[in-house]
Amino acid sequence: MSTLITNVGELVTNAPPDRDPGLGPGGFAALTGAALVIEDGRVAWTGPAAQAPAADEAVDCGGCAVLPGFVDSHAHLVFAGERSAEFAARMAGTPYQAGGIRGTVAATRAAPDGVLRENLARLAREMLAQGTTTLECKSGYGLTVPDEARAVALAAEVTPEVTFLGAHVVPPGYEGDRAGYLDLVCGPMLSACAPQARWVDVFCERGAFDADEAAAVLAAGRAAGLLPRVHANQLGPGPGVQVAVAAGAAAADHCTYLSDADVDALASSGAPGSGTVATLLPGVEFSTRQPYPDARRLLAAGVTVALATDCNPGSCFTSSMPLCVALAVREMRMTTQEAVAAATAGGARALRRTDVGHLGVGARADLMLLDGPSHTYLAYRPGVPLVRAVWRAGQREF
Ligand SMILES: [Zn+2]
Repeated sequence: MSTLITNVGELVTNAPPDRDPGLGPGGFAALTGAALVIEDGRVAWTGPAAQAPAADEAVDCGGCAVLPGFVDSHAHLVFAGERSAEFAARMAGTPYQAGGIRGTVAATRAAPDGVLRENLARLAREMLAQGTTTLECKSGYGLTVPDEARAVALAAEVTPEVTFLGAHVVPPGYEGDRAGYLDLVCGPMLSACAPQARWVDVFCERGAFDADEAAAVLAAGRAAGLLPRVHANQLGPGPGVQVAVAAGAAAADHCTYLSDADVDALASSGAPGSGTVATLLPGVEFSTRQPYPDARRLLAAGVTVALATDCNPGSCFTSSMPLCVALAVREMRMTTQEAVAAATAGGARALRRTDVGHLGVGARADLMLLDGPSHTYLAYRPGVPLVRAVWRAGQREF
C-alpha cells in the first residue's frame, strides 16, 4: 500500500541526520510545490509534485504545508491530580518552588492504574492532535519502588522513549536520609524500572539533587543499560549542564541559567548524534514567568538545540509543540526555521533517533498537514489549531 501526498505548498524535509549540520538553520530544509510518497510506513520518495510516481492512493494538500511530526523529547505524563491553584497563586505573585512536585506524588500514589492510564492516554492524544508523533515520557511522581515501576510500565504502553526519573525530588519520609533515598533509587528502584525504560534522568538543581548525587544516579543508570539525560540549570546557575556533558548525556534540559563554560561544554560535547543537545522548554518560562533561555547564545556557539513541552501538572501544563515553536520565535528570537528544526530534528537528536524528525527517504513516515502554506504559520498564527492531519508510521491517525 502506497500513499502519495501531493500538491504540498511547502514540504519541510529537514536535512537527513547524516548530513548534519545540514542545509539550513538547525538542519532545516524544505521543498516547494512538492510531493511525498509513503510506502510500508516509510518515506519512499520526495520531490517536485509534477514528477511524483503513481501510488495506490493520493491526498491533495491544496497547497498547504507538510512537516515532519514533532518530536517532544521531554514530558511528564504519568500523574494524577492537577495544580491549577498553584498556577493561579504563582500568577498572583508566589514564586514557584520545586516542592509542588510532592503534592502530585501523593495524588499519583493514591490513584488506581486505570486513572493514570486514562490521563496518560488523553495527554498523548492531545499531543498527537497537535502534530507530535514521537514523545518521551518520564516517571518521577511515584518515588517508591512499586510506584516508579508502575509509572515506567504505563509510559511504555504509549512510547518506547521511557525515562526513569526516580531522582526527581527527595520524597517525604527521606528528608533526613538523602543517602538512603539515593541508595533506593540506584538500587532496587532502578532494577525494577530499567527493563521497561530507555533513559535515566535526574533533577540536578538546588532543592533537588547536587552534582555528586546526580552523577551517581546517571552512572548507576548507565550500568543498568540506560542512557542519561538531565534536568539542568532551570531555576538558577548550577552544575547540571556540566554533569550532563561529563556523563555523555543525550540532552541537558531547561538550560535557562548558563555560564560561558556551560555553553562551551555543550558546544564541544560532540557531533550531533553523540553530543549533548540543549533542550529548551519555553512553555515553562511562559507558565512560571521566569526569564527565557538565551537560545541565540546557544545557536551562535554551535550548540544543537531542541524544543520540547515539559508537559507536567506543575511548572508547565501544555502539551502543545506549536505553542513552544511560537514562544521560541517570539520570546527567544529563534527564526521560524530554527524553531521548527529544533522541534523536529532537534528533538530527534535529543532522543538519539535518526528515523524521525526529518522526511528524508527511509525516514519513518511521521508527518503533519498544516492549515497554512508554510511552517511559518505555526508562529504567525499562535494559539490556532492548525494541524489538519497526522500520519504516524504511514498510518493516518488524526
Ligand atoms: Zn521536566
